Amino acid sequence: MDLSVVVPIYNEQETVEQLCRRLHDALSQIRYSYEIILVDDGSTDETWPLLLACAERYDHMRLIRFRRNFGQTAAMSAGFHQAGGDVVVTLDADLQNDPDDIPKLLEKMEEGYDVVSGWRKDRKDPFMSRRLPSMIANWLISRITGVHLHDYGCTLKAYRRDIIEDVHLYGEMHRFIPALASWVGGRVGEVDVGHHPRRFGQSKYGLSRTVRVILDLITVKFLMRYSLGPMQIFGKIGLFFAVPGLFLFALMIGGHLSFLAFDTTLASELVKRPFWLVSATMLLFLGMQFISIGLVAEIQIRTYHETQGKRTYVLRETHPPPVEAP
Ligand code: UDP
Ligand code: MG
Repeated sequence: MDLSVVVPIYNEQETVEQLCRRLHDALSQIRYSYEIILVDDGSTDETWPLLLACAERYDHMRLIRFRRNFGQTAAMSAGFHQAGGDVVVTLDADLQNDPDDIPKLLEKMEEGYDVVSGWRKDRKDPFMSRRLPSMIANWLISRITGVHLHDYGCTLKAYRRDIIEDVHLYGEMHRFIPALASWVGGRVGEVDVGHHPRRFGQSKYGLSRTVRVILDLITVKFLMRYSLGPMQIFGKIGLFFAVPGLFLFALMIGGHLSFLAFDTTLASELVKRPFWLVSATMLLFLGMQFISIGLVAEIQIRTYHETQGKRTYVLRETHPPPVEAP
């Protein structure tokens, strides 16, 4: 199988039929073998019966249904797990993305990219509630992850499947797949795609999504940078606090031992002021806390990798290729 198209769907009864027809029309034109995986993310309207009817009418359709609403990222993840194609394309069910743009993405993939992201150059969403937060989020994500794309939020993207097999998705993280993919050594590209206003139903998100995306961004950054050496960051923060704390304590002890014959006027002044005593204690405690967290995290990393036989690197290929077990 060459291509799997994954669509997360939540309460989109007005567009389901048109979506299936347009996907079918767009994909029957191309020269790849394909499947369409429609993931019903716990819809409470007529979406599922309509999907069943579409699966009867058109070939190559596979349906997945969640027991309840788990969110768009989970729905995409379920699609990835079922996907059999070498390339996986995702798009929205509300027809804001254009199924006719899929061949464009595939063409770009053929240039040797592992991920190709759609860029809604002329985005048709409200400015204040959508485009502005998204501009800020895009700027932040590209600064922080170091993967420079114009539009992380666009669902219309293509991925080589072996790349997403190495990527695990939590929370709102589907928009970080390009960053995660580049982290495991993937090449990431971009093409501009069409975008349409939402004509039916309602958007499932509001402004609160921005907060969730930013929190996830912190997680992703942390995982990308420090997951193999958490002590490197916690330890540094710990030392930043502990070293001045220790220094203050040393001065104060020096103040008590003034008979040791070095100039201790400053030190004995310090001892008299509770502010310095409290500061020194706080700094030292904070420092020890961070260093301990770092150590515990180091143990966790080892548990994570060793219990699951996970490797700390990702292979591209070996020569000669490994012999598959019969
Ligand atoms: N979606 C989903 N589960 C959810 C929310 C949304 O599967 O909990 C789907 C939804 O049906 C649509 C896509 O994710 O196909 C994008 O959602 P929406 O159009 O509401 O987001 P927006 O385009 O407004 O950012
Ligand atoms: Mg939409």
